[in-house]
Amino acid sequence: MSVLYPRVALIGLGLIAGSMALAMRRAGLAGEIVGTARSAETRATAREIGLVDRVVDTAAEAVADADLVVLAVPVGVMGDIAQEIGPHLKPGATVTDVGSVKGAVIAAVAPHIPEGVHFIPGHPLAGTEHSGPRAGFADLFQNRWCLLVPVPDSDPQAIARLRALWEGIGANVEEMDPDHHDLVLAVTSHAPHLIAYTMVGVADDLRRVTDSEVIKYSAAGFRDFTRIAASDPTMWRDVFLTNKEATLEILGRFTEELFALQRAIRTGDGQMLHDYFTRTRAIRRGIIEAGQDTDAPDFGRSKAH
Ligand code: NAP
Repeated sequence: MSVLYPRVALIGLGLIAGSMALAMRRAGLAGEIVGTARSAETRATAREIGLVDRVVDTAAEAVADADLVVLAVPVGVMGDIAQEIGPHLKPGATVTDVGSVKGAVIAAVAPHIPEGVHFIPGHPLAGTEHSGPRAGFADLFQNRWCLLVPVPDSDPQAIARLRALWEGIGANVEEMDPDHHDLVLAVTSHAPHLIAYTMVGVADDLRRVTDSEVIKYSAAGFRDFTRIAASDPTMWRDVFLTNKEATLEILGRFTEELFALQRAIRTGDGQMLHDYFTRTRAIRRGIIEAGQDTDAPDFGRSKAH
């Protein structure tokens, strides 16, 4: 494949940025990849493992002469980073981000993007519970969705090029508006994470009663919750603080359903429970058929990482 961006700057060198770097390099889509992270430790690790071509100390330095700038930091700091890099962006460059929330990121970043620079927010729907510069792998985006959320005056050519980059590293790309994105993600990712955090919290309380049984007999259902609940605390704190409305809306609906199921259990309404579980089983089949997961007992994750 040919080079799409002569110079790419990655701000943040964690799971997502690292995976992008490895995938872009493998596909030959970037001339030079420059990266930076907040801590000297992460920058040193990135240098040591050769994650990018060049590691620099500041975001302002990283974006100098970059054709594509990727903000791959927690959602809550995107605005500060945008403010820092704004004056140093090259005219004609594209700024994108990979944040899990779009409305709040656009509100925080857009005001700092100067005239003549394209801002095209994005969100790859791919991740693991691991984070940091060693967590990335080139296949992370393979057959995963990447949602682009162009702002009203985004340049079609700049969008097309960014789309080509994501497709070039294996993703399927769709465009979506920010409010819709935030609602869809509240259903598919944000609320489920909160529920997993809660369930693990409950089990942790219980463990004090039953000693180590919760861990010892931890079976598939609970184990899967613990995997999700091991996700990065900073990232997820920021997701809930910035996707507040949509998450609360979905959690409200969740609570209603939970009460309905609770009532069915209390009243012994087996028919209701069976019908409910039949419906949800069909959703799981749909996900497998859509190629978004495998039927393997461990959900195919051992292969992914
Ligand atoms: P990560 O592995 O924790 O990496 C985050 C990176 O951001 C680190 O290099 C960190 O540097 C840097 N950073 C943190 N705070 C900073 C600050 N104040 N200034 C400058 N750099 C800072 O996170 P990730 O999983 O790659 O997530 C990055 C973004 O992708 C987030 O917005 C997240 O919502 C989104 N996302 C995540 C997933 C997922 O499943 N993980 C999936 C899709 C999208 P240090 O190491 O020096 O702290």
